[in-house]
Amino acid sequence: MAAYDFTAPRLHVEADLASGTTLPLDRAQANYLLNVLRRGPADPVLLFNGRDGEWRAEIAPTGRKGADLVVRERTRQQPPRPDLHYLFAPLKTARLDYMAQKAVEMGAGTLRPVFTRYTQGERLNADRLRANAVEAAEQCGILSLPDFPEPAKLPAALAELNPLRLLVFCDEDAPIADPVLALRRAAGEATPPLAVLVGPEGGFAPEERALILARPNTVALSLGPRILRADTAAVAVLALVQAVLGDAR
Ligand code: SAH
Repeated sequence: MAAYDFTAPRLHVEADLASGTTLPLDRAQANYLLNVLRRGPADPVLLFNGRDGEWRAEIAPTGRKGADLVVRERTRQQPPRPDLHYLFAPLKTARLDYMAQKAVEMGAGTLRPVFTRYTQGERLNADRLRANAVEAAEQCGILSLPDFPEPAKLPAALAELNPLRLLVFCDEDAPIADPVLALRRAAGEATPPLAVLVGPEGGFAPEERALILARPNTVALSLGPRILRADTAAVAVLALVQAVLGDAR
């Protein structure tokens, strides 16, 4: 396990990162570093942009309220984006914020909003979704940002999944069964590429359940005898999938 330096603040930037680069901080970032975290000249800040790995930079104040960051050296190589696809019915704002952050923390590399019959609301704030992913990455030392394919209705989202990808369908109506065994049986000896699907506050409609179960290479997973909130189900299923078939092995 990499020994992360959690003493230095970590910031996501869009700019390319290379030794000697000077990056002007915007007002919000300067305020956060100088006034909230009370960092000062030459204090380290870890930067990442999702492409160039992690770099150590130093604060160079520019007057009373501003600051630049001078990029020094790379501290971690850029890892590949995780292959796990997380498909989810958008939830109400605060729960969606939470769910997006947990999916990133738990190794989802693609976050795809899927509109289902009982999904609340028709609009999705893509910028907010991305901002939550960035915040989780900043706080947890994650260097690759997820891909955000356009939202899709359920049939299209299913059709666009690579047939080789094992879809773990969190089905609140699935018969109660051992989820570890169910995952192991579905994967067999292989280590298939994975996708996870979690439904909306209102659950899946019967015709949606039939459509999902008609897809080959799909396993309906019970998360136990209680109905979990969708954002809770996200954490539960990602923990199980990573433990049994993913990168926690
Ligand atoms: N009304 C609650 C729960 C709705 S179910 C809420 O407001 O969130 C939300 C989704 O979580 C379901 O569609 C399913 O994907 C997943 N889920 C919840 N409980 C589950 C269980 N026991 N087994 C499998 N999936 C579950």
